[in-house]
Amino acid sequence: MTVEQFQQAGRQSTHGGMFMADGAKTLPMRVDLVPIGEVPAPVKREASAVLRSVYDASVSIATDQDLPRDAYDSGRDQYRAEAFIDLAADAAPGDRAVGLTTEDLYYRRRNYVFGLAYLDGRSCVVSTNRLGTSSDGGFSQRSPEAVFGDRVRKEVVHEVGHMLGLDHCDNNRCAMSFSPTVQEVDRKEETLCGTCQRELF
Ligand SMILES: [Zn+2]
Ligand SMILES: [Zn+2]
Repeated sequence: MTVEQFQQAGRQSTHGGMFMADGAKTLPMRVDLVPIGEVPAPVKREASAVLRSVYDASVSIATDQDLPRDAYDSGRDQYRAEAFIDLAADAAPGDRAVGLTTEDLYYRRRNYVFGLAYLDGRSCVVSTNRLGTSSDGGFSQRSPEAVFGDRVRKEVVHEVGHMLGLDHCDNNRCAMSFSPTVQEVDRKEETLCGTCQRELF
């Protein structure tokens, strides 16, 4: 699916929500985690754990992939997110692929993204680059490492939800709520709300 179709599908889903029809057939699923560039082991562990707990997925870790140098924008010091989605899909044999990277990603006119997925696609990407801000805005007494791990888990659930056809959710506790800043990520849970779950399971 091209990005144009992705956006089109996103718009349609806001009004119609018809695209979800084959979501149920895809679960339980096999997911390959695809590290792109150097990815710390704890990030892979958090991503695997949450895919098992929320999606009941069987998870494999694919071979590390080199960074897509041609997707690097030196003026922005960022990478184009779409290249990572394509790379993850090409690198993984399973049903679905989740690219993981520590690099900073941008998408079109957005200054940065925590991740990107094609709606109802085969792959997505999550970047940990901007999830490490130590403050969680006073939401918990947890350590910076634990807060970071929570954010990684939530963003993985979020992008995989898009990959399975879920659109953004109005429930700001739901992992599918739109969360462009870490404060909004911290407010939501790593789980899907009942409405989103019923779309998939
Ligand atoms: Zn989203
Ligand atoms: Zn929801």
